[in-house]
Amino acid sequence: MKNRFSSRELFELRNNIPVDMLIRDQLQIPSKIRDGVFRFLCPVCNEFQTAVNPTTNLARCFRCEKNFNSIDLVMEVRGHGFKDSVQFLKNLIEIAPTQPLAKLAVGIGRPMV
Ligand SMILES: [Zn+2]
Repeated sequence: MKNRFSSRELFELRNNIPVDMLIRDQLQIPSKIRDGVFRFLCPVCNEFQTAVNPTTNLARCFRCEKNFNSIDLVMEVRGHGFKDSVQFLKNLIEIAPTQPLAKLAVGIGRPMV
């Protein structure tokens, strides 16, 4: 296993894995659609005062006033360190290389650009 990750790898992991899909399907954080907005249970404060920004691919908790990228979420929810969290996300991409993430994202009603 590599110990270091290139900034390009990290950029791709933060941006190419839809953060709402990660929350719902991979990390299995409780989530729901309320008022047409995807909301998830904040792993820090356990409230649903949250949203996901598809443009930046960041999850935000309005109560904690904290933004989570995909790596932050894995660290927070699974208790992994940075390196293990990056590896977890890399495995997700490598498991289904022929299945575009865009297709998966359609299932949650958000087309990928
Ligand atoms: Zn919170």
